[in-house]
Amino acid sequence: MNEKIKILMLEDSPSDAKLIQRELKREKLDFIARVVDDKDIYIDALISFAPDIILCDHSLPGFNSMDALFESKRYAKDTPFILVTGSVSEEYAVLSLKAGAQDYILKTNLSRLPLAITTALRQKEAERRLRESEEQFQHTIDGMIDGVQIIGYDWRYLYVNDAVAKHAKFSKEELVGYTMMEKYPEIEGTKMFEALQRCMHERVFHEMENQFVYPDGSSTWFKLTIQPSPGGVLILSRDITDKKQAMRQLEEQNSELRKINSELDRFVYSASHELRAPLCTILGLNTLSRALKSEEQRLDLSEKIEACVGRLDNIIHEIVDFSRNSRVELKYEPIDFHLLFEEAKARYLQAENAGQIAIDLELRGKYPFYSDKERLKVIMNNILSNAVKYRNPGRKDPYVKVAVSLSPKKASLEISDNGPGIEAAYLDSIFKMFFRGTESSDGSGLGLYIVKEIIDKLQGTIRVESTVGQGSSFFLTIPNAQVSEPVSAVAV
Ligand code: ADP
Repeated sequence: MNEKIKILMLEDSPSDAKLIQRELKREKLDFIARVVDDKDIYIDALISFAPDIILCDHSLPGFNSMDALFESKRYAKDTPFILVTGSVSEEYAVLSLKAGAQDYILKTNLSRLPLAITTALRQKEAERRLRESEEQFQHTIDGMIDGVQIIGYDWRYLYVNDAVAKHAKFSKEELVGYTMMEKYPEIEGTKMFEALQRCMHERVFHEMENQFVYPDGSSTWFKLTIQPSPGGVLILSRDITDKKQAMRQLEEQNSELRKINSELDRFVYSASHELRAPLCTILGLNTLSRALKSEEQRLDLSEKIEACVGRLDNIIHEIVDFSRNSRVELKYEPIDFHLLFEEAKARYLQAENAGQIAIDLELRGKYPFYSDKERLKVIMNNILSNAVKYRNPGRKDPYVKVAVSLSPKKASLEISDNGPGIEAAYLDSIFKMFFRGTESSDGSGLGLYIVKEIIDKLQGTIRVESTVGQGSSFFLTIPNAQVSEPVSAVAV
């Protein structure tokens, strides 16, 4: 200890006080002493002098050492108190020690005093450090991210740290002393409770992940370590809700990836098969053309080859559409259905030699609509081209009607034709990869598959109703990527 030891001496004999100080100096104790002999001055010194140690004579006028000890516990709680007295009965000395005095020294044996003082001061210092370390420990446990709780054999919370109180959605005071069942009436019968019971009775360690459901229905995932403790069971808990969510996302992504992978396998297999068919035809036609003499026949073959190449080109375009849908990120922008329709119409009226087919658009609802334009083009083009392509040549008044209803949340599309219709047996298959429902199809069988893939990506829906000989209707819903207010109050 570097600073001087502050000694408060309660002594009414100045000669004894001197004697005691001489003894301490002899032992080279570095100290300053204040000597008092009156109760009030003593109490005042306890506060203002803040002694490191108190040396107290037994009997003082109107005041004895037991009173002095009592006052020291009141005003200087942790200051060691040594009884230094001429004579005292053994019973009284024991009583003083029991009441909290550190030691007692007889004035006839003052040589023991210096050591008694240093021992008492060391003990005080050790106790201070211990207290500090306990506070530190308490602080650390309280501040831990992990929950720490001790449950007694009677299922009462004996100890909970701050994290447990937070996890439990109760204050510490609302938990400690109460049973788990009082706080969570539904807890009995849960897996966690079973594990706690086993630990209570069989004294076995257990680790588990547990979804704790609160009385309000919300839930949190915890990793629990349950182990026997002297008072009952010790539970360490960690909130793993975020980790669990990340795991679930990862699993979902994983299964999505597996789906994509197996679809890709199927796709590559089927696509190579589909691409080879027109190639083989072209090769065959080419060989045939070498043997042909007439210019007219050669021209005919050349047209056939051209048609095959066109088909190949079509398949490749659709493969690109498919690939774009799987790889390219969604890009939302305002959609003008009118424009989208006019572009598709212009293309198919020409390309498919659509003749007199009437293609009309009816647009209802004036809401700004946001979606992925390129993907919507593919949808519109495919469904419209099918309606034109599979029109009934015998019909006098072939038509395709496109009705679009806009609402703040979605666009609902109905694309109907009065074509040949689709056989009921095929209705489930037309959205499958490379499925063609009719001999008259010279397409790849990919169009509606891609439409369905895009609709899934946009989180929309598609279904078809069709009656053979009467026509087909495709019903689509596409979510509005930006929920919006109407452009004008009245929907058109
Ligand atoms: P593709 O047109 O290349 O054969 P699709 O995937 O676009 O492939 O269509 C799958 C099948 O669905 C077509 O082969 C056809 O049998 C049937 N289909 C699609 N749209 C219509 C329609 N509007 N009318 C009649 N049949 C249709």
